[in-house]
Amino acid sequence: MSNITVCSRFRPLSSKEKINHGDNVCVHGIDAETFVFKDEKEENFSFSFDRVFYEKSEQAEVYEFLALPIVRDAVNAINGTIITYGQTGAGKTYSMEGPSVLECDEKKQGLLQKAANGLFECIKSTEGAVKHTIKLSMVEIYMEKVRDLFDLSKDNIQIKESRVQGILLSDVTEIAIFDPAEALQILSSGIANRAVGETQMNMASSRSHCIYIFTVQQGLAKEKRVKCGKLVLVDLAGSEKVEKTGAEGRVLEEAKSINRSLSALGNVINALTCGSSGKANYIPYRDSKLTRILQDALGGNSRTALLCCCSPSSSNAPESLSTLRFGTRAQHIKASPRAHCKEDYTKNHEASHATKYELRERILN
Ligand code: ADP
Ligand code: MG
Repeated sequence: MSNITVCSRFRPLSSKEKINHGDNVCVHGIDAETFVFKDEKEENFSFSFDRVFYEKSEQAEVYEFLALPIVRDAVNAINGTIITYGQTGAGKTYSMEGPSVLECDEKKQGLLQKAANGLFECIKSTEGAVKHTIKLSMVEIYMEKVRDLFDLSKDNIQIKESRVQGILLSDVTEIAIFDPAEALQILSSGIANRAVGETQMNMASSRSHCIYIFTVQQGLAKEKRVKCGKLVLVDLAGSEKVEKTGAEGRVLEEAKSINRSLSALGNVINALTCGSSGKANYIPYRDSKLTRILQDALGGNSRTALLCCCSPSSSNAPESLSTLRFGTRAQHIKASPRAHCKEDYTKNHEASHATKYELRERILN
């Protein structure tokens, strides 16, 4: 049993924060793990994480510390989950996707592109010994419904649990990918289908939680038994309080739905880390779609890393403090992931293969 990895990341001051002369930088780094956060009332709070990424940190540093060990394990059939958390505008999507999934230089590529690359590199190093297949699914949780981002007609995907494979999304589209460039093209077609709205906080803030699932199968179909690791990347919707978004109508409903699911996530984390035994008897995973999908990640059978994204500015201090406290609580979650086997592979696989091939061709051409 080890604790999940929790890191924090401060983005640079935005141009709006720079123009606003009342804004100060709240974070005073001590070392790579510790910093002091001074709130708008000049009160000091000290925080420690597995690693702190300050404004000059490169995307590659974040990937190598937070994600690479998890990517390597996924190729060995150990599930992994990487989550970005924080208020809207804090740098979650930048950390995950960089400025754009398709069009950005390698230096700016986010965890997503680097993980896709990393999976293929890890596979190459084992070439010959085993055969791997990588498949990709993308869903978003919007207003408590799980939507398939590769097939919008599947707008209410059900969540199931299997004893061997853990949490599964019923009938979700899985697209086989054969190289990193192809993966980026397929990812970008899914991202284009995300629900984006406008709030006062961010021009195109995402109003949904976005979940990328890479399934890495290892072994030959004719053996009817393959090992299977899932690498799940989660770009959460903004954690800010509803009032701060200035939302009305549908946008307000969206914000409330986001707040409810993030509260459910907080409650699950509290239940997992309370008391001397470290865990409550009942963990309320079923209180939201998000916690249900993250059940494997939080319940122990996954290597999990959480990136708490924050603005460094005093005008966002209350939200940043709330994000950092969320991360501090999550540090107590324990995990002991084990390798997965998936039996009877051929039965599930062959039937739907034809339609998926068609969709794949359509995206890539
Ligand atoms: P979120 O997904 O948390 O709402 P974004 O990732 O969209 O926030 O970030 C908001 C803005 O800040 C974007 O314009 C993004 O490019 C910029 N940004 C975020 N993090 C960084 C960073 N580490 N370096 C440079 N720019 C960043
Ligand atoms: Mg975002």
